[in-house]
Order: sequence, then C-alpha cells, then structure tokens
Amino acid sequence: MSTLRFKALEDVMKRQPVQIDSVEVPVSEYFGENVFGKKVMQNYLASDVYKQVMACIQDGKQIDRSIADNVALAMKAWAISKGVTHYTHWFQPLTGLTAEKHDAFFDLSSDGNAIEKFEGNQLAQQEPDASSFPNGGIRNTFEARGYTAWDPSSPAFIIGQTLCVPTIFVAYTGEALDYKTPLLKALHAVDKAAVNVCKYFDKDVTKVNATLGWEQEYFLIDTALYNARPDLVLTGRTLFGKSSSKGQQLDDHYFGSIPDRAAAFMKDYEQESLRLGIPVKTRHNEVAPNQFECAPVFEEANLAVDHTELLMDLMGKLAIKHNFKILLHEKPFAGMNGSGKHNNWSLATNTGVNLLSPGKTPRNNLRFLTFFINTIKAVHDYSDLLRSSIASASNDHRLGANEAPPAIISIFIGSQLTAVLNDLEKKVPSKKMTPDEKTELKLNIGKIPQILLDNTDRNRTSPFAFTGNKFELRAVGSSANCASAMTVLNTIVAKQLIEFEKEVDGMIKKGIQKDEAIFKILRGYIVHSKKILFEGNGYSSEWEKEAKKRGLPNIKTTPGALDVLTTPKVKSLYKELDIMSEVELEARHEIDLENYKLKIEIESRMVTELALNVVIPSALKFQNALLENVTALINVYGKKTDLIKAQSDTITAISQAVNAIKTNVDAMNKEKEKANTLPSAGKQAHAYCDKVKPYFDVVRENVDNLELIVADELWPLPKYRELLFTR
Ligand code: ADP
Ligand code: MG
Repeated sequence: MSTLRFKALEDVMKRQPVQIDSVEVPVSEYFGENVFGKKVMQNYLASDVYKQVMACIQDGKQIDRSIADNVALAMKAWAISKGVTHYTHWFQPLTGLTAEKHDAFFDLSSDGNAIEKFEGNQLAQQEPDASSFPNGGIRNTFEARGYTAWDPSSPAFIIGQTLCVPTIFVAYTGEALDYKTPLLKALHAVDKAAVNVCKYFDKDVTKVNATLGWEQEYFLIDTALYNARPDLVLTGRTLFGKSSSKGQQLDDHYFGSIPDRAAAFMKDYEQESLRLGIPVKTRHNEVAPNQFECAPVFEEANLAVDHTELLMDLMGKLAIKHNFKILLHEKPFAGMNGSGKHNNWSLATNTGVNLLSPGKTPRNNLRFLTFFINTIKAVHDYSDLLRSSIASASNDHRLGANEAPPAIISIFIGSQLTAVLNDLEKKVPSKKMTPDEKTELKLNIGKIPQILLDNTDRNRTSPFAFTGNKFELRAVGSSANCASAMTVLNTIVAKQLIEFEKEVDGMIKKGIQKDEAIFKILRGYIVHSKKILFEGNGYSSEWEKEAKKRGLPNIKTTPGALDVLTTPKVKSLYKELDIMSEVELEARHEIDLENYKLKIEIESRMVTELALNVVIPSALKFQNALLENVTALINVYGKKTDLIKAQSDTITAISQAVNAIKTNVDAMNKEKEKANTLPSAGKQAHAYCDKVKPYFDVVRENVDNLELIVADELWPLPKYRELLFTR
C-alpha cells in the first residue's frame, strides 16, 4: 500500500478553511499602512525635503547624501513606531526570485551604548556578495563585488519586523546584475521619447509613465498531496500523471464559486497586499480546477513590477498557513490550462491622458493613432526580441501548446481599428494632400469610437491584443518577473518613437505641414507592419502556416528564442538607448541559457529517479501479484485454462512498459552525459532542448499507461484527480 499518497488524502479530507483575522474596516482605512509612501513622508519629513525627494523621483535623479540622511532618519522613526527591528535592501537578482539580507537597526555607539542606527549610508547602498548570484561571467572578467542602491521611485515597506528598501543590484564595475536596473533605464527612455512625441499634440506634457496591470494566474494544491509528489516539490510541475477522467472539459470551474479554503487564503493575502499598497482588486476561479487569478489596479510599471514580485512571495508564504502550496509554474499539469501573467500595458501622461485611449476629438485621435501605430511597428520590428523576453524552460510548455498564446508574436486590434488603419492606408495620398482630403481624414479619425466593441470581448488566442485602451501581452509566464518583458516593450517603443520624431521633424523641415507629415509617416508604418496583424484563431494550425508565409518568426524553444540577444541589431538597440551594454547582454544570454539547461537537467534527474525508484518497483509489485494469481489458477485449472488471459495480457503490458521506461531513461542519460561535455552554455542548452527533453514525453507515455494498469492501491503518486479535485 502506498502510504504517503493515502495518508495525504486522509489529511486533505480533514481540512477546514483556516480562520483569519478579518479586517472589518473599509480598505481605504488601511490601504498602504505598511508603506513609506507620500502621506507618511509628508508627516515625517520637513516640507522642503519632501519636495526635493518628490522632484528626484519625478526626474529619476540621484538623491544626494544629506537628503538621504533625512529620509533614513524619517524611515527609521516611522518603522520603529511600527515595531520594526531590522532593515534590508530588497532586490531582484537574475535568479528570478527576490533577495534580502537583514540587518538590525541595533548597533553599538563608540562608547559602547546600544543605539538604533539607520542613516543615509545604509539607506543608499549595501554590499551583498555578488559572486553568489547569477552574473554570467561578469564576475570572472571584472570584480566579484557588487552593491545594491536605493530606488527612491519605489517606496520602502514593512514585512513582519523588517523595513524593506527596494534597490537595484549592480556589479562594482557598473554592470546590472538584476531585473530592475534595465527596466528603470527602459522606462526612462520611453518617458523621454514619448514626451517628445506628445509635444506635437500638447505642450504641457512633461512626463510619460508606462503603466502596467498584471493578472496573476496560479494553482493551489494541498500541502500534503504536494509533498507526496516529489516532481512538484523539485520541479514545480508534474512530470507524470494520467489525465483525470474529468478535467476542465465541462468548463464548470471558470468564474464558479470559489471553494472555501481558497477563499480564506485569498482574503488573507489580499489584506496583507493592501496593507503593502498593492492595489489587488479582482479574484476569480480560472479555467482549470484549482486554478485561480488575482489582478490589481494598474500602476506605474516599476512599482507594478515590484508589486508582482512582492505578491508572489507573499502568496507563497501565506499559502502554507492555509495548508496550500501555490504553484506559479506555467504548466504544472499536462492537458490542463497553464498559467500566465498577462501584462496590460499603456502610456500615461502627467496631464492625465492615457495615450492608448481613443478620445473625443480628431486631434486626440491622431495622438492615439500615433502611439497605437508606433507600438505596432515596434512590436513588428522586434517581435523576436519580445519573444525572447518571455522565454523560459517552464513557459515553453505553455507557448505553442493549444490553449496558450502561440510562440508566433502577432497583434490583434479588432475589426473597428482594422477598418481605421485600412482607411488611413487607402486615403493618405503619396502626393501633397488637398485641404479637402485632410478634412475628410480628420473627420474619419474623429469617428473612432471611444468604446471599441470588439475589444471588450477580445481575442483570447492573441499573444499581444489591443483591449480598448491598452495592449495586453498575454504570453508572459505566470512565474516570470514582468520586468523582463516590460524592459523590452518599453525599449522598443522608445526606439520607435525616437525614429518617428526624427521622421516627422525631417518632413516638417522640408515644409510639409505637421499633421500631414504625421499622417504620411503613419501610413508608411501601417504598410510596413501589416503582416503582424492577425485577427483569427492564434491556436490554429492554419495560422502557423499563414504566419510562415508572411515570414513571421515562430520560435518554439527557449534556447532558440534567447539567441536573438547577442545579434548586432539587439546589441546596437540596447547601446543606443543606454539600456544594456554588450557585456551585460552577453551575460544575460549566458545566465538565461544556463538556467534553462539546469532546469531541464533537474527535470531529467527527477524523471530518472521517479521512473526507476518509484514507478517501476510499484509496477513490478503488481506484476508479481498477477504472477502469483496466474500460478495459482494454473495449479487449480491446468495450463490450458483461459481464466488467465486478462492477467497474462497485463503481465506482458507491464513488462513492455517497464522495458520501454528503462531503455528510454538510459538513452536519455547517455544524451545528458554527452550534453554536459559540450563547451558552452549555449551548446549545452540546445542539446538539452533537442536531445534530452524529447525523452520526457516517451517515458511519460509509458508511465501514464502503467498508471491505468497498476492497482490503484499500489500506485505511489497522487493522481491528477486527487491533486485537482480533492477538497
Ligand atoms: P478584464 O481583463 O478582466 O476585462 P480590464 O481589461 O479592465 O479587465 O483590466 C485588466 C487589467 O488591465 C487590470 O489589471 C487593470 O489594472 C489593467 N489595466 C486597465 N487599464 C490599464 C492601463 N491603462 N494600463 C495598464 N493596465 C491597465
Ligand atoms: Mg485582461
């Protein structure tokens, strides 16, 4: 009898929702109470210091030491008033997790007295050991040391008894070792470029913020069942498992009533999130059983990125209290929906305008079309780079699988905007426009409805969909740090807007009137980028064929997707916009490839261990029982009895499956050994992808067949129906 599995099931049956201390006051009364935000700063800082801090944040400027001292003092006083004893620099190294190293406020003064110390120095900079974080060779070529530096644009917050200060993480020689540094640079670049383009429409615009609203999908699995599945524990996904008789085919989970235990968990993390200023707003069941989603109100992109990282961490910790494990893996269960993290993105001005929102007047709509079409062109020109930003070993299971956005980057804009673009393309003449033509065009764009009907019920199969007043990048994986995708999207849009401005100014210099210049250039962009627009079913095989005809890249695996990072085109883009140097790009390429290889390597070890040590012995135990049964029947009824037919067939089937498993595991491990001798991370990653990983499917198929044959009571691993349906 497989004790762990059955013990786990017993545990689950006994579970009750965990009672949490429910806050009975309106959210507005406790929202952000654990954040050193504007309100707290106003209370704790002299008003001129407050103004200087805000100005630095607004302009992305360094805060000088004397002001940092003031802020540190205020932070310390506020934190101590809330029972805080420690502080940490909180950063996002390329491990994909967040990192922190706690220090106590407590210190000894020169005369040996105990004091609470936290000054500008401690706030502004710290030195964690950079050599223990992924650095892609930067460590070898340069200094091993790195430092974290305060990011004043994301406010400090309190978790437990620790004050957390969001920081960037860079090598001593200046190279970024984290996700935040290039993101901040990309946001700065898009701000500058978009402000310049806004000048054509509104001279009051001095700041443009990229906005991000993410939607986090996740699975909840009972801790006991999770612990009985070593593959979930070590790889985050089930490497084996026959589909449950009932899966998601009835669509009875989506938006259904939330199970009590899950609801208690949600309430818990929502309250904690709100205290931390994370504006979580939406919760619902997702398509697969035990799959859920959480979405906040959108925020400035840097803050929104910090908030998803914080929320993922918070959810993981709180889930344990509710006897859940939260699975953020993109595809924990084969044959079920995977989990993504849609990134809703737009650009907002300091004058309160959403630049991707159609307006009431032709003027506003020309501005809308400018940003809309420039984004389309940016994604068209750099679709391979955008694809690389969402590439990971775990997201490979999702992209291109038949429920997920395909690995082909295309853009959905809806029928109304398709008509508008077609109209622009047709009606802007190559010669000089007559006043009548201009008036007609303006009238036409004035008619763009503010509410775009087909964008509310959007095409769910598109990886990049315009959803009425923002674009939704749907291909981002659920476990990803959104900074990766947001860095690329904002960089390529910045690059495109700079180009646009140059072209418009060039035409104006030649005496072409401004609006006409804008129309002409946008028309050119539509023609140039048209092939990336696709309104149909992105999951269909016809689209794959059609996309190939159109020459759109379809990069199915991570190693393939990552190779774009070291192309001359990308290197020069990042250099021109000062996002990352060649050294940094190459380091990142190396880190991502290495990470990919290590993940597949861990999975292949787990496949080996589970198959040889867990599955095969259980199958043989059942086969032995059958053999005993057959021998006994023959003893009683003689050799020729037909009473042993079913048992004999099963005995044969078990032997065949066991042989196939063993043979393929051995072959996989030979390929693995070969791959490990290859000279570079890139070669190893490609070998793991093309030579090792394909064996996972063959082994799995045989294991899953055994699951159907072997007696239920002897099967060692919790089954899909148990993982997904036991309450
Ligand atoms: P749904 O997708 O459920 O229909 P919405 O499309 O309104 O709901 O919003 C989904 C996500 O888009 C939310 O996280 C929301 O904060 C975000 N969002 C809405 N407007 C913007 C915007 N201008 N910029 C970025 N994100 C936005
Ligand atoms: Mg959405």
